[in-house]
Amino acid sequence: MIYLALCVFYLCCCCSHGASGGIQTFVLPHSHMDVGWVYTIQESMHAYAANVYSSVTEELSKASDRRFIAVEQEFFRLWWDRVATSTQKKQVQQLVKEGRLEFILGGQVMHDEAVTDLEDQILQMTEGHGFLYETFGVRPEFSWHVDPFGASATTPVLFALAGFNAHLVSRVDYDLKDDMQKEKKLQFVWRGSSSLKEKQQIFTHIMDQFSYCTPSHLNFSNSSGFYWNGVALFPDPPKDGVYPNMSLPVTKDTLHAYAQVMVENIKQRAAWFRTNQVLWPWGCDKQFYNSSVQFNNMDPLMKYINQNSHEFGVTVQYASLSEYFQAVHQSDLVWELRGNEDFLPYSTEPHQAWTGFYASRNVLKGVARQASSQLHAAETLFTRYRLTFPDGPVAKVWALDKLRTLRWAVSEVQHHDGITGTESPKVADMYVQHLVQGMMGVEELLAALFLLPHNLDMSSVLDSVYHRKVHRSLGQHVIVYNPLAWNITTIINVTVTFQNATVFDDEGRPVPAQIQTSAQSNVTFDLFMRVELGGLQHRKYLIKFSDRKCAGRSKCGRTYVAKGVRFERRRVRDWTRTGRRLLPVLNDCYKLMFDQDTNLLHSITYLEEKRRVSVSQDFWEYHANGDVGAGPISDNYIFSSSRSAVRAYQAVEMEIIPGKIVSEIRQYFYREENDKDYAYSITTRVPECFGTMLRCHRLEQTYSLGSLLLNTEVVLRTSTDLKSNRTLFTDDNGYQMMKRPYREFINNTIARNYFPMVRTAYIQDDLSRLVLLSDRAHGVSSQASGQLEVMLHRRLWNNQPWNLGYNLTLNDSSVVRPTLWMMLGSISTTSRLYQREAVELQHRPVIMPIDQPQKPWPEKKPRGRSAVRSVVLPPNLHLLSLSIPGWNYSSDHDIHLRHVHSGVDLPSEPDFDRVLLRIMHLFEEGDDPELSKPVTVNLKEVLQSVGEVKVVEERSLTGTWNINRLQRWKWKTVDNLEAENKGSEKHGNETFTVTISPKEIRTFFIHFGSKDF
Ligand SMILES: [Zn+2]
Repeated sequence: MIYLALCVFYLCCCCSHGASGGIQTFVLPHSHMDVGWVYTIQESMHAYAANVYSSVTEELSKASDRRFIAVEQEFFRLWWDRVATSTQKKQVQQLVKEGRLEFILGGQVMHDEAVTDLEDQILQMTEGHGFLYETFGVRPEFSWHVDPFGASATTPVLFALAGFNAHLVSRVDYDLKDDMQKEKKLQFVWRGSSSLKEKQQIFTHIMDQFSYCTPSHLNFSNSSGFYWNGVALFPDPPKDGVYPNMSLPVTKDTLHAYAQVMVENIKQRAAWFRTNQVLWPWGCDKQFYNSSVQFNNMDPLMKYINQNSHEFGVTVQYASLSEYFQAVHQSDLVWELRGNEDFLPYSTEPHQAWTGFYASRNVLKGVARQASSQLHAAETLFTRYRLTFPDGPVAKVWALDKLRTLRWAVSEVQHHDGITGTESPKVADMYVQHLVQGMMGVEELLAALFLLPHNLDMSSVLDSVYHRKVHRSLGQHVIVYNPLAWNITTIINVTVTFQNATVFDDEGRPVPAQIQTSAQSNVTFDLFMRVELGGLQHRKYLIKFSDRKCAGRSKCGRTYVAKGVRFERRRVRDWTRTGRRLLPVLNDCYKLMFDQDTNLLHSITYLEEKRRVSVSQDFWEYHANGDVGAGPISDNYIFSSSRSAVRAYQAVEMEIIPGKIVSEIRQYFYREENDKDYAYSITTRVPECFGTMLRCHRLEQTYSLGSLLLNTEVVLRTSTDLKSNRTLFTDDNGYQMMKRPYREFINNTIARNYFPMVRTAYIQDDLSRLVLLSDRAHGVSSQASGQLEVMLHRRLWNNQPWNLGYNLTLNDSSVVRPTLWMMLGSISTTSRLYQREAVELQHRPVIMPIDQPQKPWPEKKPRGRSAVRSVVLPPNLHLLSLSIPGWNYSSDHDIHLRHVHSGVDLPSEPDFDRVLLRIMHLFEEGDDPELSKPVTVNLKEVLQSVGEVKVVEERSLTGTWNINRLQRWKWKTVDNLEAENKGSEKHGNETFTVTISPKEIRTFFIHFGSKDF
């Protein structure tokens, strides 16, 4: 999106390159096509997006010097599949082959960089790259991240792993960009990971202040700049082809004036770069839907400039992005280095800190992550099923179709005006609708797959798929699946309508459980049960219900009936003396103390080192300005506050439910002393330990917020006595931690000290660290020493005219229920735990109630070993992907290219035998003496319970390159370090052995042999 007029055009007319220098200008035709934002995808396709590809195809075919870059794959694929004629498809194949139509970036969308998780970024790129490679045999080699609101240090690492030769970003802090322009430092080599360093470095280009649009103002005309096709019209394209705001045509009368404007702009920009080449993006949002008007005006203009190049000191040519980067690469300059610092947060001016979107639309952010983890679970389960039962009754095409629908939905929402929460309400609804539809389909698939390995009777499968309601019979089967490649012992929570329940595992043994009245409702009950699951393993549990209270231990099985103790409402104004009456809640890791005078948390002692840290938690509100006439405003993008947050409540109630599986503390915060309903709540679950099996470090918290009052931004504030000096640590996309020292600014200091938190944030001093882990993205800040505040929800109304016109104002009245896990401990203990815990929070066990089987459940008889054997990786390795993509291209690039260029269609049957495997090392170098070491695993052994591994092919991150043939461009750097060549040919047993270094992500195609066990 772009909405700030680019009006800085004539500020500077100086030029350093004279005619003798000869500036070489690369005019790059492009259209920025938001996959969402103001209009739905369907509306955009209808109004302009389909026309972009139809008209560009036609115009490029007319003249061989014309170029175009295609960026967002979702629109291209919709055009390719639903609109393009066979003639157009042939033309596109030819244009791509000749490099005149170039696919850049190649993801389904241009993903946001602040609030997206790396697993989803990889997914959406893989989805786009797989299609491009299969269809055209091409692999995008350059990025074009022109619109994401700030730049993460994880992005360059992922793009390097995907085989890119150069990275391009645009939105970085306004003052920083000014400095970089002046000092000609907009280009550098970025080492985004402090562990991978030069191994995954990438040349990076930051766009100058004109960003991705052409100058939007002409001094000789009232019309806009170089946009001869005008502005896209919604909902329908105009019948007469006349669009609003079409620029003055290039004619004899205007030719010279146009040339002068263009040349002056080129010279202004050339002064900011070290080479004589200037990238001149020609386009903006929603452009080139009428390419003939565009090219027919630009052709004579460029011809004129070139004919007079001596006088102008400039030559111009249409170019693809690769042509520009090739020219820069050939300059053979030595480039400065950037370490793993990112460009977050992002401000466009002193009062415009784009830190609000970290927390905008909490529900959408939550559903997106939930869909992503469900997809991961279904991918792994389907892969195992497919290898175990190649001819099993779950139709593979049907299954793949369900998975693809959800892959597409999860990819789409990663768009930089999607998961960011910066879209119009109807577009937010569209994303949610696509996600929910995808999840419902995958749930059907899961139901079918869960039942099959145990029971190949088709009729019972169909039954379960179509009659899946939780009925009120006295027994309910539940399947629990662990989507991680680690063995876990954990507590799951099922909501039931009976006050008593006993639980049995699949071997008929009673399972430790606990039941209590639900926090959210007094007609339902929370049943907690302890489950033990191997990696990628699912187990069936039986819950037996009873309406009566159990009489004696035998009737209750191992279920504990927990009862709560309520504490009366405490008013803030009565807090004269506190800390006198403390109530302890204990497990093997912690002693939590709650203060009966305030009903707030008072302190936590971590027992390992017997260190007590005072910790309290409550809610605070920023009261935002919604009137643009009254000063800087907060909106869906921007957070702006001139005043500190105020306490969001006047009284607190508390209930403690001591348990044997978990102890639960419920705190209710009332806006006014005598309010009937609470405004906010915290539910804290303190798990009991089971030997060393279960980690007791994890304090699970769920909050309830909403509906908010208008123009309110709510934070959960955790205040401690840690001497953290306001230094905060937050993650870039769940991949790596960034240190965020507090910075003072002349203006807007509160908002500019906000950072995105995707999975993790912590504060620490020399002894202790307090960690928060998250199930969705939030904004996070440390406004005082020892304090960590998380912005959980925002509801805003502002009167900016363009905002109201587009209906972009964030009037989000929903009730939200995010989850955070809190840990407290020494630096070394928390270093060992938090990465893994963050992954466990993202990939919690899948719980699925199923209908009772026909046969009676064998309660006491052991069933022998579990039907599904586990897959277990070392504790520092995470199974990032195990899926069947369905691509049908040959792994051999030459063979595949011959196929593509033969013009014969590939067989349309997806390849169900190629498995995509990704493994990630979770630790940084130096995090932990043991866990930070490189790990060697034998893939044949690790995957033996999945099938017999026959062939392992290592690939680039998105699967398109054979890693042994991937030669990324080398760029000269000041320290002259070069990446060592990755990958080597291996033979014999070694073929299956891989060593994974800290923060590495390795991608493989695995081919399995026939199954004989
Ligand atoms: Zn955009």
